[in-house]
Amino acid sequence: MSSVSIRNVHKTYPGGTDRATDDVSLDIADGEFLVLLGPSGCGKTTLLRMLAGLELPDGGSIAIGGRDVTYLPAHRRNLSMVFQSYAVFPHRSVRDNIAFGLTTRRAGRAEIDRQVAWAAELLQLTPYLDRKPAQLSGGQRQRVAVARAIVVDADVLLMDEPLSNLDALLRMEFRTELKKIVQDLGVTTVYVTHDQGEALSLGDRVAVMRSGRIVQLGDPLAVYDTPSEKFVGGFLGSPPMNFLAATLTPDGDRIDVAGTDLPAPAALRGSAGRDVLLGVRAENIEIAGTGGDAPAGTLPARLEVREPTGSAVLLTVSAGDRELKVSAPASFRADPGDVVHLRLPPHTLRLYDAATHQLMENRPS
Ligand code: ATP
Repeated sequence: MSSVSIRNVHKTYPGGTDRATDDVSLDIADGEFLVLLGPSGCGKTTLLRMLAGLELPDGGSIAIGGRDVTYLPAHRRNLSMVFQSYAVFPHRSVRDNIAFGLTTRRAGRAEIDRQVAWAAELLQLTPYLDRKPAQLSGGQRQRVAVARAIVVDADVLLMDEPLSNLDALLRMEFRTELKKIVQDLGVTTVYVTHDQGEALSLGDRVAVMRSGRIVQLGDPLAVYDTPSEKFVGGFLGSPPMNFLAATLTPDGDRIDVAGTDLPAPAALRGSAGRDVLLGVRAENIEIAGTGGDAPAGTLPARLEVREPTGSAVLLTVSAGDRELKVSAPASFRADPGDVVHLRLPPHTLRLYDAATHQLMENRPS
């Protein structure tokens, strides 16, 4: 186990115009599970590969356990890696695949047998130890890759989208298992994914990346609750955060959102007339009623689509020219075309600058 310290790391691939990773600094604590989350091409894998020693940065430094490893070859970093493609050796048995890292480290026979038996049991591979990978399902092959990574006593475990080749159900089951295994091992883990659900459920902290940079780093729920910019709110969460154009009233005391007044945060009262974006999560919007007169302080909207999810019902509503997602209790009854009155509880609203899309102020007062 070890801490990781990344300082001002940047990298541009030969022939590339933009930096794949741009001035990234990140400290990962000993035993922490850190998720790198972001859309395709944002630089997650490049950062992970520089940590692994498979790519060299153009500048900056990387330390593992206090030791500068920036230019150290991969095999001298004492890391384990699990890739998206199972990357198991097809001609070797499951047993030999799991033992691979131990064999190359010249571990003794008894040690290898003990470790392989332990990992196989943990990953439910004991009955398959003598099979070849071709005789396994995709999920089992990925278990072999994980078993191979955890048998060596690595300082840091690196995983690059390890679940993305599995079908939805298997993915969810394996995610829980993986979390338990890593939790029990207590090994420092860096996990790359573009799946926001995985990031929220697995990470002690999540680093959200965009265009080679970390744009927000924090506890998953804090990042979900208060995205630092519109991009993060739109990327994290299913459905994504809703955004509504709004204006601070000329006296600066209120926010006008599609003709409905809400109190403005004290810190913004000097910026009268300013255009803002209100961010609000689907589950935080309350339905104050349907049809008839609008209760005071509510936003009228038209129900467009109703999608039951089992535990709730996801509503798509239109308010002016905006579409919003609202999560209502499963028992909620209304039909497409009905008018629903939405209440936006002030403490759940996040305000973003209309031009820069950056968080302005956490909560209206
Ligand atoms: P994905 O989720 O699709 O794997 P990512 O966030 O991991 O994406 P990277 O693979 O790190 O992103 O890629 C970052 C940028 O660097 C992209 O613009 C990509 O096209 C570019 N890139 C990645 N690998 C190479 C390479 N070997 N040569 C040139 N450009 C590369």
